[in-house]
Amino acid sequence: MSDKKRIAVLGSTGSIGKQTLEVVEAYPDKFEISVLTANNNADLLIDQALKFKPNTVVITNENLHKKVADILWNEGIKTFCGDKALEEVVEMDEIDIVLTALVGFSGLKPTLRAINAGKTIALANKETLVVAGEIVTKLAQEKGVNIYPVDSEHSAIFQCITGEFQNPLEKIYLTASGGPFRGKKANELAQITKAQALKHPNWEMGAKITIDSATLMNKGLEVIEAKWLFNLRRDQIDVIVHPQSIIHSIVQFQDGSMKAQMGLPDMKLPIQYALTYPNRLHTDFKRFNFLNYPQLTFEQPDLNTFRNLQLAYDAMDAGGNLPCILNAANEITVAAFLQDKIGFLDIAKINEKTMQAVSFQKSTSLESLIETDLETRKKALELIH
Ligand code: NDP
Ligand code: MG
Repeated sequence: MSDKKRIAVLGSTGSIGKQTLEVVEAYPDKFEISVLTANNNADLLIDQALKFKPNTVVITNENLHKKVADILWNEGIKTFCGDKALEEVVEMDEIDIVLTALVGFSGLKPTLRAINAGKTIALANKETLVVAGEIVTKLAQEKGVNIYPVDSEHSAIFQCITGEFQNPLEKIYLTASGGPFRGKKANELAQITKAQALKHPNWEMGAKITIDSATLMNKGLEVIEAKWLFNLRRDQIDVIVHPQSIIHSIVQFQDGSMKAQMGLPDMKLPIQYALTYPNRLHTDFKRFNFLNYPQLTFEQPDLNTFRNLQLAYDAMDAGGNLPCILNAANEITVAAFLQDKIGFLDIAKINEKTMQAVSFQKSTSLESLIETDLETRKKALELIH
């Protein structure tokens, strides 16, 4: 048997998925691809499959199944379609690590199935932990499954605590770029267009997370993600705006010592670390030069203008199904903004109204969260129309 790590990439046609395949391609003796999945981008999925020769691919959009299957059949690659197939494929014996790069709530069920099957998780899909952090982390503990963060801030924290497992964290600082509208006030944001919001200063990412970065929802989701990944209380998680995106996050220990992880922004590094932990592989990524960045600066986030971050803190404090409600509302409002149906400031406004409109439940189960998610989507759509 080869000692290559066999990887399933859920969402291989997205921004993280594509960068994961770049990492895999760079180390053919370390990794191989066993599963690729896509939603709508059949052409790219086919190209990826022809190149990486996975055992199986899944296209969730059932209308595209035939197109993909017709081509990949000749190559001996199995093709399945639909949401159920996406959940089941992660249980395959031929997988060591499942890298979850789906977007939104769609990542939850496949991730739980993968954990249940004992697969190591490299987690990009933060919404999974936002919606069901308690259920996911409890199952991972029961099954002895490790969840390695791909999100750059959480990878930074993970890198800082490696070798420090006996030393409790006093707190962490999640850094935020502040997005394209840092420093602007509400009256300047009312007329923001989709094109402006889709231009992130430091990172190129999928559309949803790019809008989340512009509204600071992304940082809110990351606060909740950090709570579950590192078992922290709210008062141990701080957000600091750092526009240069060089310090990816910071931990502070009980003796007051702080460690930061730094580097030029490139998601391939945290992706790779999640796949190779505790080892590091040589890369030719561009190196940081201090003299190009004579100033690294820090600011308070503006919770009044960027209300989504405050909403995320509120949801985390309340717990129960409130983070799930916020997440579902936000998926709907971001999609509506991307379709020019609502303005930029309406995203947080409707998120907040939806949080108030859907009934709060303190105790949750997977089934109740699925119901909350559906009910919330309906409510948010009503509030939009
Ligand atoms: P993209 O939108 O670029 O890609 C999403 C992927 O998921 C695509 O492969 C898409 O398929 C697939 N997909 C979308 N919806 C569904 C669905 N309902 N069912 C099945 N598959 C689906 O997103 P990103 O790569 O930017 O982000 C992925 C996750 O990683 C998000 O949770 C994000 O928050 C997180 N993340 C991303 C970072 C980044 O730099 N991009 C950084 C840190 C975290 P298709 O394209 O074929 O339709
Ligand atoms: Mg991040």
